[in-house]
Order: sequence, then structure tokens, then C-alpha cells
Amino acid sequence: MSDIAHLGPVEMLTPEGEASLRFFVEAMGMEIEHQDGPSTYLRGWGDYQPWSLKLTAAETSGMGVLGLRAWSPEALARRVAAVQATGLGLGWTEGDRARGPSYRFTDPDGHVFELYYEAERYEPPEHLRPALKNVPGRYTGRGAAIKRLDHINILAADVRANRDFCVDTLGYRLYERIELDDGSEAGAWMSATIAAHELIYTRDALGAHGRLHHVAFWVDTREECLRAADIWLDAGIEIEAAPSKHAIAQGFFLYGIEPGGNRVEVTSGGRLVYDPDEPCVVWTQAERAKGQAWGVHTVPSFHTYGTPPLDGP
Ligand code: FE
Repeated sequence: MSDIAHLGPVEMLTPEGEASLRFFVEAMGMEIEHQDGPSTYLRGWGDYQPWSLKLTAAETSGMGVLGLRAWSPEALARRVAAVQATGLGLGWTEGDRARGPSYRFTDPDGHVFELYYEAERYEPPEHLRPALKNVPGRYTGRGAAIKRLDHINILAADVRANRDFCVDTLGYRLYERIELDDGSEAGAWMSATIAAHELIYTRDALGAHGRLHHVAFWVDTREECLRAADIWLDAGIEIEAAPSKHAIAQGFFLYGIEPGGNRVEVTSGGRLVYDPDEPCVVWTQAERAKGQAWGVHTVPSFHTYGTPPLDGP
């Protein structure tokens, strides 16, 4: 059941519209593709669609709508029917910029998703035209020069219920998960592709609903993650977790908090899953307590902080 091709684009809400925009353009190196009212549509040079991040000035932070692209019109129809059968459907929309009709629904935790198939390909303006025809846009090298949207980690009060929905209804593959000593699930790493993580749920420590943990953007090398850390440092961006390697999914990371409060990651590496029979890797509480891949201990805020903040509007 591989009806979903990939995740994205994603909408991020920010109470600091101008400062967040400056972060994504100058520190992350994204291009402004379009502006419409409170929303700015941004792209990495390697995004094949015109935009991968919709940054929307709002009262508070967090995730707006997360898009999921289907493989075909038939795949879209199948997944819409499956979602409708769960009672979580909200109905069809005209679709956001540069994409066709989209079916809006929520996961059991309340995050808003849109399934779509029709999508435009990016046509760069002259000054962003790349030399090679198999690259969507020109590599400008500005800021962290992120290539594309990579993965999303969202928080849920009940991880298991949400990953069951993603696996059973949307057709996601579950590659890795954390099971605590009491049998509860603290995290689930899923993907519509062979990349070991694309859509991740981790437990909301505050038991809240519909919140965001982080949005991750890809660079091709670990060195570029280190370079991004230097750029963030000089830009005054709060670095929450300095570069290191995750044990789960083996992604190389840099985590920080953008000016609007949302956690953002620059990532590279990560394992690929070729085996169609690959068993789900289950991590225990004791294994997780050992820290990340090289023994670096995870900062406490990583387990507790999410957006929007609960004391916000
Ligand atoms: Fe991540």
C-alpha cells in the first residue's frame, strides 16, 4: 500500500513573522517564491515543487497544515476513502499554491493534513536557473543553503494511536519505535519512502494535542550541518542541540529554535531501508537512556519543549 509518495510541503506558524522570515532566508538560505498576505512561500534549491515551507505570521507558533502527496489520482482517491472511513475527514479544499484539489483531515491527535496529487514543478527565474537540468534550482550557497524539506516530527498525547492511523489508513511504514518499560510508546519513526524517517511522532510530555516537535531540512553532508551551526551562532539563533548523530534512524543533526519559537533541524545522513521485510527496530527505555549514537546525552528540553507553547494565546 504505497499510495503516498512523500511528505510536504508544510506550513509553519510564527508570532514573529519578520524575524522568522529573516531566519529562513538569511540563516537557512531559502528563497522566497511567493508572498500572500500573512504567508510567505519558501523553497530550498533542491525542492522540486515551487515551495516546501509556508511561513505564516499568526498569533502563536506551531504547525499549520502538513501536505502529503499521493502517487496518482487513483492513489489519492484510495487514501481519501480510507480516511473518510475513519471519520477524521474534514473535506476537499481547492488546494494551496501550485497544487490541485486537496483533501483535508486530521490525525487522531488533531494535526491538520492535506492529501493531494496534482502539483506543479518549479520553474526557476533566470537568476536562479541551475547549470544542470536535473537540479531544480541554483545553489546559491547563502546561509546554511538547505537543499529541501526532509522530515517532520510532531507531538501526540497517544503515539501508538497516531502511528496506527498512519500505518493502517495512510500506508506508512513503521521503521523504528521506542517502547518504555510500562509498555507505552514514546516515539514512532515512519516513512513513505526508504529514508528511515520522514514522519515521526513523539510523546507530548505535557499531554497536549496537535503540537509540533520539529521541522527538518536536508543538506548533503555532515560538514554542512557543522557550517550551519557556525552560521546560526553568528546569527544569534539559539542552538538547542549541537551537531551529533542520532541513534534512532542514524540521522546527523543540528537543532535550534527559530525566532518564532519553533524547533528547526538541519539534517544529513540517516539510514535507508531497502529490505521489504525489514523488522521494526524497537528501542527500550534503558537503551534510550544511554543517549544518542555516540553517547551524547539528549538535552532535557528536547523531551519537553514543543510549539505552540501552552501558556501562549
Ligand atoms: Fe529530526
